[in-house]
Parts: sequence; C-alpha cells; structure tokens
Amino acid sequence: MSLKDYRSKRDFRKTAEPKAAAKRGKSGGAGRPRFVVHKHDARQLHYDLRLEMEGVLKSWAVPKGPSLNPRDKRLAVAVEDHPLDYADFEGSIPEGEYGAGTAMIWDEGSYEVVGDEAGPQALARGELKVRLAGQKLKGGYVLVRTKWRGEDKNWLLIKEKDDQAREDGDILKKQPDSARSGRTMEEIAAPGE
Ligand code: MN
Repeated sequence: MSLKDYRSKRDFRKTAEPKAAAKRGKSGGAGRPRFVVHKHDARQLHYDLRLEMEGVLKSWAVPKGPSLNPRDKRLAVAVEDHPLDYADFEGSIPEGEYGAGTAMIWDEGSYEVVGDEAGPQALARGELKVRLAGQKLKGGYVLVRTKWRGEDKNWLLIKEKDDQAREDGDILKKQPDSARSGRTMEEIAAPGE
C-alpha cells in the first residue's frame, strides 16, 4: 500500500501529521535507515512499527506491541506506507480524522537488514530479518508473513534469541514513555498542562 493510500485517508487541513512529500533522502544516504515504533492511542491502543525503506516508512500495526521475549509472536498487520517525515511525528490526531488519538515515538533508532537479500526482496518473499539499534528495542527481530485465511497482510514480529533478548518483564510497561521527548501519553495529549 502506497503513499497514495496514506494521503487519501487524511485531511491535511485538519491533522498535524506530515503531508506525504516526495522523498528527501535526509536519513538514507550513507547512514543506516531509521526505524520508529509509534505508540498510538486510537480506538484501541496499539503500536506501529515503521522501517525506512525505498524512501518511505514501511508500516505495520502491532496490536500487542513488540516484545523482547523470543517466545512471543506478535501479530503485525501491514498498513499503508507512511512518509519519511512521519518518523518525527509525535502529537495528537484530531477527532474525526483517520487514526484519531495520541501518537508517541515510543522507540526510534536505526536498523540494518540481516542477510544477503535487500529489504524489499526479503519483504516480497515474506521473511525479513533486521537488527535494530533503538533505545528500547535492540538486536535481531524477524518479520514473517503468514497466509492466514488467504490474507497476506498479516505478519508475525518475533525477537531473535540473542544477547538483547529477555524472557522476563514487559518492556511496554517498564518503559512506557516517549523515546524522543520523555513525555507520557497524557502529556502528549495535553501539551502545556
Ligand atoms: Mn496506528
């Protein structure tokens, strides 16, 4: 799903979310691509994993959020590509708009694709291994596509067994606040209070 889908779902006169500008390559280039995990309090609280790839943010909604525990297989539903600028968006999406609610940059950093294949090819094949260098999420993760009921938008996000894996505790509860600003969801929802 392309940036066209992103644009068609939003009224940029009403929401402060970034318009889908053409790629500017500010974060690509020689550096590693970025990743971000938004914590998004929309109709239901969920997390959105976004990986910079080919000038956009490939995006998945993760209802239960990411985990550090390799035993957890977290459903990750592919959604429309988001513009690169969205990696810097933290704020409120107004009532009545698509995705209305508060969006927090829960984690961010860079990542690299693991293996011989480039990211887009690995995604097309249905299995992408990455190494994340975030503030909260670190080390190996795999996204595996599942063909559940003929749908191809459903993936599983699984932590790889490595030094950064943790079998106890819940990172979502232990570190609930913004990686960017340190703010809570309430502080983002009502700035200045
Ligand atoms: Mn979302």
